[in-house]
Amino acid sequence: SSLAKLDDEVPPPNRRQNRSLPAEPMPRTGFRNTPDTDPSLPANRDWGRAILDRVPTSTLGNASVEAATIADADTLNTVIATAVEKGKAWGAMSGAERAGILHRAGDVLEARRAELLEVMASETGKTIDQGDPEVSEAVDFAHYYAESARKLDDVDGATFVPAKLTVVTPPWNFPVAIPAGSTLAALAAGSAVVIKPAKQARRSGAVMIEALWEAGVPRDVLTMVQLGERELGQQLISHPAVDRVILTGGYETAELFRSFRKDLPLLAETSGKNAIIVTPSADLDLAAKDVAYSAFGHAGQKCSAASLVILVGSVATSKRFHNQLIDAVTSLKVGYPQDPTSQMGPIIEPAKGKLLNALTTLGEGENWAVEPRKLDDTGRLWSPGVRYGVKRGSYFHLTEFFGPVLGVMTADTLEEAIAIQNQIEYGLTAGLHSLNTDELGLWLDTIQAGNLYINRGITGAIVQRQPFGGWKKSAVGAGTKAGGPNYLAGLGGWTSTESTR
Ligand code: GLU
Repeated sequence: SSLAKLDDEVPPPNRRQNRSLPAEPMPRTGFRNTPDTDPSLPANRDWGRAILDRVPTSTLGNASVEAATIADADTLNTVIATAVEKGKAWGAMSGAERAGILHRAGDVLEARRAELLEVMASETGKTIDQGDPEVSEAVDFAHYYAESARKLDDVDGATFVPAKLTVVTPPWNFPVAIPAGSTLAALAAGSAVVIKPAKQARRSGAVMIEALWEAGVPRDVLTMVQLGERELGQQLISHPAVDRVILTGGYETAELFRSFRKDLPLLAETSGKNAIIVTPSADLDLAAKDVAYSAFGHAGQKCSAASLVILVGSVATSKRFHNQLIDAVTSLKVGYPQDPTSQMGPIIEPAKGKLLNALTTLGEGENWAVEPRKLDDTGRLWSPGVRYGVKRGSYFHLTEFFGPVLGVMTADTLEEAIAIQNQIEYGLTAGLHSLNTDELGLWLDTIQAGNLYINRGITGAIVQRQPFGGWKKSAVGAGTKAGGPNYLAGLGGWTSTESTR
């Protein structure tokens, strides 16, 4: 049927790889997802432990990458002018030529997998099991956008004119895959890039960027900046030579960028407040496991994370589901990534503000099924929390917290559960656990989110198989999905060549 056909076109990723053997070479035409490291192989566990032995015991981000620091407006103007100038030759290359360099970038990123995992663990506290698929995603972006670049050459009667200069402002939570994806897409399209890695994860960004330079991306075409003052950020975003800005971050940041410049050509993936709905027809054991993983992987610090689970009808009172969920959550081993048995790492900075509030106070009618505990005096290590009784329209229902706390809501019917999710102003990911095809159809027709997942977790989109992007306030500007067939189209435009024939 149509699913069988998809598998012919898109071979399933081979998600087993023994890291003590050389990586399989990726094809130079066509695309295949790169495999993650398989932790069931003892050699790979040794490999992981050797990486973790190099991670210092107490580090936080905020490392200064001195070479990248820009301290004044004149220097920033020079960086921008140079990038535009040197970018001309890059944009004039054929897509196939750029593809050659980007495929090499994928190989170099793969070769630096261990280093990337080490620096991500050091800076952001990311555990290896979370970091490893992230490196695979970065490698996938390189090979995938390389092939996208090649396709730009094949269009009759029209020429692709790339953006001249793309500014990339990634978040800290996926400090390798997200900056890599945005940068590689812009480079594939033929644009020069100025990138400002998140301050909590500058070294992760820098290692990724070095890998691209090593592969042959000219240093002037891909420039990393660390801006000494906030005003310089505004100067960069609003500079007239900048004709694309790719932002992944909070919705407020997108608004801020737009306040800098009205006609800002923005491609932004922003906030999420995502729910998994579980109906009585679901495999409840699987649902509990997927909810726990989606809520607490990387301590819930993903735009895609499950912040709510909505239990329909009898699931709300199902002892089986509740016991499974509570067991799954309370058995999670919380710890720093240096300990290879840690399943949930620390949060990026001591809990404060909104998140601290969500970890310590309950709304009206709510109670803790699992109360979060502060596990040490850094304020960064928290055990996961599950709150019952979240009411429709309440603060917890509608607010993004970006941390290890899950709210449980109930609904009489699937329609009501869908309405609860759709009431949220964001629409990034959504999940349904159900084995009833009528329910799947209803949900698919009416749920408002960019990425829909059925009977599985809702994080960890895979390049080409699950292009990633939001709907409603989860996307701002020209939103096309990252890792999908249309992304490059947003990074340039087509001009007709008919008249010159
Ligand atoms: N692409 C990631 C995922 O599917 C989420 C990215 C984000 O948090 O911004 O889990």
